[in-house]
Amino acid sequence: MEETHCNHTPYEDTNRKDLAADRSLDTVTVRGASLFEPRTGAISTPIYQSSTFRHPGLFESTGFDYSRGINPTRTELELTLALLEQGRSGLAFSSGMGAISGIIKLYRPGDHLIVSEDLYGGTYRLFNEYYGRYGFSFSWVDTSNFTLVQEALRPETKAIFIETPSNPMMKVTDIQRCAELIHRHGGQLIVDNTLLSPYFQNPLNFGADLVIHSGTKYLSGHNDTLSGFIVHSDTQLEQPLREIQKSEGASLSPFDAWLTLRGIKTLALRMKKCEQNARRIAVWLREHPRVGQVFFTGFEDHPQYALSCSQARGFGGMISFYVKYPQDVPILLKRVSLILFAESLGGVESLITYPLVQTHSAIPEDMRKAAGINDRLLRLSVGIEDGDDLIADLADAFAQCGKEEKS
Ligand SMILES: *Cc1c(COP(=O)(O)O)cnc(C)c1O
Repeated sequence: MEETHCNHTPYEDTNRKDLAADRSLDTVTVRGASLFEPRTGAISTPIYQSSTFRHPGLFESTGFDYSRGINPTRTELELTLALLEQGRSGLAFSSGMGAISGIIKLYRPGDHLIVSEDLYGGTYRLFNEYYGRYGFSFSWVDTSNFTLVQEALRPETKAIFIETPSNPMMKVTDIQRCAELIHRHGGQLIVDNTLLSPYFQNPLNFGADLVIHSGTKYLSGHNDTLSGFIVHSDTQLEQPLREIQKSEGASLSPFDAWLTLRGIKTLALRMKKCEQNARRIAVWLREHPRVGQVFFTGFEDHPQYALSCSQARGFGGMISFYVKYPQDVPILLKRVSLILFAESLGGVESLITYPLVQTHSAIPEDMRKAAGINDRLLRLSVGIEDGDDLIADLADAFAQCGKEEKS
């Protein structure tokens, strides 16, 4: 691991020093930033359910004052995220959207951002419907095509915001080339790294300035907690981001910080199992007579397979696919029983989503069409159940489609 600095820690006397330098990601996920709680030896990070902290005297501080700005449970999680993303600093928010909304405050009305067109629908809604109103402008671009990114650059462009792989079409964007382009222009590259998690991809190592996570997904991993993160390595950005977090008040609660820490302990095991299951299911889907194209970045014939291998250590647990017949969609969503028809992704439970009416309903029809999000597209977030059971569940649901067709 590269040298990591987490210089905002109030834990001056912990033994983090020896952790940061050379432990592998698998160890950091389990042991966090501090290995154990230094004051009592507690192995599980205590939940500091306190809104405020006593000062020993005037101009004296324990490092903590008021939990909107700083809380010890949240700090341990923030330090852990910084280590996992190999950044200098992490900031935890009450949701992924809270983190994304925070990042926008680094910019000013009149600024222009280039954004992946095929991205989380909530991000589209936030940018277009809210920040659009406050004088920001956005260009929605297929960022997997670098020429289009170059063409979208304007004098007032201050950032490129990408999701890679994209959601739901699994397009891969070249992190390093985007970073070089925007740096020559004096701006920042922001990467929403939710889909691969820090276990499989660390965009800061490829020149990204800011990494976003919806911690609700793989990091928490159990479909039970909302959280969000910003991780960065830029000392210039640390102070403004802390101010934004404290001022907006969308900081993560101590209990949800603890749940996220607990989830992260098994991130490595979960990511490996999700990917193993996803690969098997993707291969199976591809052979199914009622299935059209299958989108999985782990296929060797995926158009950006080589790029994926160069910037990520794995392909993750997400698959999208077209069914051949749109009338199969309602039957499948009703007939799957192990796989649950529910929004979200990245948990231990396998979920199936219909992006057209769920995650991507906020995106205008022409943009959805251009991106390929139509009435035949389904998205699977593959969990850690037994792979054979998941395939059997899909096989049963597809068999039902065949039956209803005949009757
Ligand atoms: C879910 C998600 C978000 C939003 O995160 P919340 O925690 O739901 O607010 C942002 N980006 C991506 C890629 C997501 O999947």
